[in-house]
Amino acid sequence: MKLASLSIDQRIRPAIVDQEHMLYWPLDKTDAISAISDLAQGWTPQLDSNRASSFRRDQLLAPLPSPPHNIMCVGKNYHAHAREFHRSGFDATADSDIPAEPIVFTKPSSAISGPNDDIPLWPGIDESVDYEAELAVVIGRSGRMIPRSSAMDHVFGYTIVNDVTARDLQRKHKQWFLGKAIDGFCPMGPWIVTKDEIDLGETRITCRVNGELRQNATTADLIFDIPTLIEKISTSVSLAPGDIIATGTPEGVGIGFTPPQFLKEGDVVACAIEGIGSIVNRVKRIIKTEK
Ligand code: MG
Repeated sequence: MKLASLSIDQRIRPAIVDQEHMLYWPLDKTDAISAISDLAQGWTPQLDSNRASSFRRDQLLAPLPSPPHNIMCVGKNYHAHAREFHRSGFDATADSDIPAEPIVFTKPSSAISGPNDDIPLWPGIDESVDYEAELAVVIGRSGRMIPRSSAMDHVFGYTIVNDVTARDLQRKHKQWFLGKAIDGFCPMGPWIVTKDEIDLGETRITCRVNGELRQNATTADLIFDIPTLIEKISTSVSLAPGDIIATGTPEGVGIGFTPPQFLKEGDVVACAIEGIGSIVNRVKRIIKTEK
């Protein structure tokens, strides 16, 4: 089952989508989070073929477009990426490559954008913008102090996040928030795929920039698996339906190249995950900031 948020008649509607036939069934829920909460509790929507309508890709919004929910992100969670990041000189917060414990930071919900939206290059922080294709876990059932053994019971499904990052801010401020919290730096989508549809043992994650393959790895290279991340994060934070855990990016980000390959005006970034789909975002320079 795929849960999307669609723009229909100027409104945001949660809907079950059939990707293959580009059909949707609107859900009688106020928003995606209430739909996730009810689906995770066992609610089964009636998908009558007579009620299906067709949708276009440009109607897809971020599957979780409205707050409140937390976006937690995991840094350096693939072996090969941890090594490339350490080598790059942009890792100002650690003196070793492979972390002994998960590195967790957050992105604000104001950073979220849709699967087709532009990635903005804001004035003054546009010189070292980088991509990070990531598998993101969407929480379906709330919990605190969740043990590894039951962690997957709290997972609703998965989506794709591009953890876009301004590397110069990440290095200069010696923490991760400011360089990753920027408006429009969390493209997400195109939908949430429920956990029953994906085996995460060796799921392929790719990122292409202007068609050139930059990231190409599988979840087999993860340092900390999803149950571990849920156990560690829920030790500190109460998890709630709609919370997102972006699980880290694999090798092949822009700073992994010599010289670094940062994003520039007009670049098209496509992040894809096997079994989910893809998000495609064009990089756009913002000339003037507006309120
Ligand atoms: Mg990341």
